[in-house]
Amino acid sequence: MILVNQSVSLQDVDVKISVIKRLVYEHVINQVLSSNPVVSVAENILTSLSQEVKDAVQVFIGPLIVELKNRLSSFDITKATQNTNPFGILPVLRHILSKYEALITENSIRETHDEQSGSSQHTSTGIFSGAALKKEADETLFHYTQRRFYKCFNFAKQKIKSLEDFQNLPTNKGKMFLNGMYTDVYTSRVLFCRQYKPSLPVENVSLELEDFNVDEVKKHFRPCAVDPGRKDVFVSYHDNNDLRRLSSREYYAMGGTVRRQQKEQDRKRTSGIEQIEMHIPSPKTTSCLQYVSHLEYMFQHMDALFGFYGFEAARIKWLNYVASQRSIEEAVNILLNGSKKSHREMFQEGDPHKMPLIVFGDGLKNKSQVKYRGLRTDINEFKTSKTCNSCFSNDSENLKCGEGDSARRIHQVLKCKTCNIFWNRDVMASKNIFSIAQSIWTGNDRPTVFQGQTATLNVVASAHSGESTA
Ligand SMILES: [Zn+2]
Repeated sequence: MILVNQSVSLQDVDVKISVIKRLVYEHVINQVLSSNPVVSVAENILTSLSQEVKDAVQVFIGPLIVELKNRLSSFDITKATQNTNPFGILPVLRHILSKYEALITENSIRETHDEQSGSSQHTSTGIFSGAALKKEADETLFHYTQRRFYKCFNFAKQKIKSLEDFQNLPTNKGKMFLNGMYTDVYTSRVLFCRQYKPSLPVENVSLELEDFNVDEVKKHFRPCAVDPGRKDVFVSYHDNNDLRRLSSREYYAMGGTVRRQQKEQDRKRTSGIEQIEMHIPSPKTTSCLQYVSHLEYMFQHMDALFGFYGFEAARIKWLNYVASQRSIEEAVNILLNGSKKSHREMFQEGDPHKMPLIVFGDGLKNKSQVKYRGLRTDINEFKTSKTCNSCFSNDSENLKCGEGDSARRIHQVLKCKTCNIFWNRDVMASKNIFSIAQSIWTGNDRPTVFQGQTATLNVVASAHSGESTA
């Protein structure tokens, strides 16, 4: 396929994959591995093609076969000769790879060029036809990737006969694949699916605000409303003026990761590692010269690199990993219990006999990084960041800073024109979400001020998996 793409005259010809297979297995291999001079392609191999295309294939394939033959030292190539001289085939493999590398380079240049000129004529089909599959609207990224993998590779030998079989792999005993391709430049592994843990019954419950009443909420739950803040990780309101906030800055500083990364970067700079790493010649090449220059470079700087990536670097990597895991836990803890060391004096620990009940603004719905424990229900955010939570009027404006032409609107701060209160937008929104929830729990409808064309429903379907449906 690659070879056909490369030829100018054959570029637009749609040759069936079965024809190419026959060409390779019944002609190319025999011609390359035999000591006889190259002959033209037999009539019966290209039967489905027009005379014009047949001629083009002949002209195209002949010189390529000669190129490969010229790189073989001994003939004929059989299993026996391969046994005595296993490396004899290497120059051929290397030649194929370098052709392939040149093709990739050429294609990437052409694509950049096409982007610049705005032309969309060139469509790169690549080696894998399945890679061009379109993502379905309702398909998750994982299933899309899985479907593409299935299209690209032949799984028949693994006794996987359908996409369904493929998707069911994690449930089969002894069949363990993961999804993804990992490489550290020198090695790579491809893994195809992941294990699904059976979900707990409580995770499949989809509750809506109307399913609760005010007495039940009082007796069994610790309710809170969470606004999907733009600047903060969250702002939450827990009634009785209990307001909790975790800023992005606090979140990232929590485990010390930012501080450590900065220190590490400084260490790289001062020790000269940054410069060294910036100029490593790529090892991904079939050009001997280029690979040798990579090796020389690495040997030249080996002591410096080993000196830097020693126990200290490993220790920092580990600390960062632990910190990132802990930060998520900590963020949830602050939301549910208000219990971070520095916050402890401000908040009471939540009543452990009551279950957290979290009312989310629906803007948070598709954010998969939102982890939560306890029950969750989503609420339509309509007008929650525009309505004053004190007088419930819609008459608010952004705080302005400066005079005349140089005046700037401060997005984060709103002023209610009716009662002259200044609000932090996210605080106001979380309080409003709480007010809506309470109104519904007491048997009233969503307050009229929060109603509108787009908010005919109080509640939008809750996405308990946290998986994006957008
Ligand atoms: Zn007001």
